[in-house]
Amino acid sequence: MATIIVEDCTGCGACVAVCPNQAIRAGEQLHVIDPRRCTECVGFFEEEQCAKVCPVDACLPDPDRQESEATLLARARAQQPHRVFPAPPPSRFRR
Ligand code: SF4
Ligand code: SF4
Repeated sequence: MATIIVEDCTGCGACVAVCPNQAIRAGEQLHVIDPRRCTECVGFFEEEQCAKVCPVDACLPDPDRQESEATLLARARAQQPHRVFPAPPPSRFRR
């Protein structure tokens, strides 16, 4: 699942800086996550950082985009080809 930002978002921007994939931008009303960039923080952290910092719990798993850990890790590697990812990678699937 990619993470999605729901209508409770106040636009505070706290989530933008903590995303390891630069997947979050300000939209017209809500902030928006690009699902082509979001890895659910797989490869970087044991939990979704946007959800961790969001003061109104507006970052939620998107039930319409269910993806495996392998798919998400492959995306992280593709986006940051020079990064060395630990094995096993930090992942919400392993916490
Ligand atoms: S779950 Fe992680 S990778 Fe996805 S948007 Fe949030 S901070 Fe970025
Ligand atoms: S941290 Fe939460 S409230 Fe703030 S911009 Fe991100 S999703 Fe919206």
